[in-house]
Amino acid sequence: MPSVATLENPPPSPRVRLAVGGLTPLTTIDYPSRLSAVVYCRGCPWRCGYCHNASLQSPEPQTVDTWTPVRNFLNRRRGLLDAVVFSGGEPTSQKALFAAVREIAALGFEVGLHTAGPYPNRLRQLLPLIDWVGMDIKAPLNRYDAITGVPGSGDRAFASARLILDHGIAYEFRTTLDLTLLSRDDVVRLAETLADLGVRNFALQRARDEKRQPTSSWLDDATIGRIESCFVNFVMRG
Ligand code: SF4
Repeated sequence: MPSVATLENPPPSPRVRLAVGGLTPLTTIDYPSRLSAVVYCRGCPWRCGYCHNASLQSPEPQTVDTWTPVRNFLNRRRGLLDAVVFSGGEPTSQKALFAAVREIAALGFEVGLHTAGPYPNRLRQLLPLIDWVGMDIKAPLNRYDAITGVPGSGDRAFASARLILDHGIAYEFRTTLDLTLLSRDDVVRLAETLADLGVRNFALQRARDEKRQPTSSWLDDATIGRIESCFVNFVMRG
């Protein structure tokens, strides 16, 4: 007897081949003011030394369907969660993200995206499909390649930043503070550059590897105040 697709058992998604490396089933901090789940996507073209999910950088060959179990789990969470955030790795490194986003939106969730912006053309096409974006902006343009290890990465990131601002989508720009890679002047210059671009919402977050962050290198209050004055909404995390 053929199986019947119902809301409890949505049809399989043969076109979606999103490579998923993990799932956070419930979080209050990854999408502003929403209960959300986070889907961690495999693959990233950059190699930041402080990467929080380095195990996801390499796109492993898809020998098993890692998306359908995640989609089915999220289907069962309808009414309990508000949003689903695609994070990584770098979600936009996979073309399958488009189909996955459409499936999640069709389930009634708001869709968030964490991106570092390495694929501006893909981001341009994604923006109309999503509701909120957290953009990881790493450094002033002249310091980008030293952090990502990839020439030209800064041009791509700033092109993505402009797309987000031009589109008008809800957003937060965030920078990971690794003061072994960025000087105080770099951080202030980045803040001023973002403010000039029109960024209103900005967060600084401390790198998770404590060994890379000697206490003496932490930003002083005067510098933080100078950065805060550039934005309407500013958050210091960690
Ligand atoms: S862009 Fe993000 S996911 Fe990619 S290497 Fe850098 S920190 Fe890791």
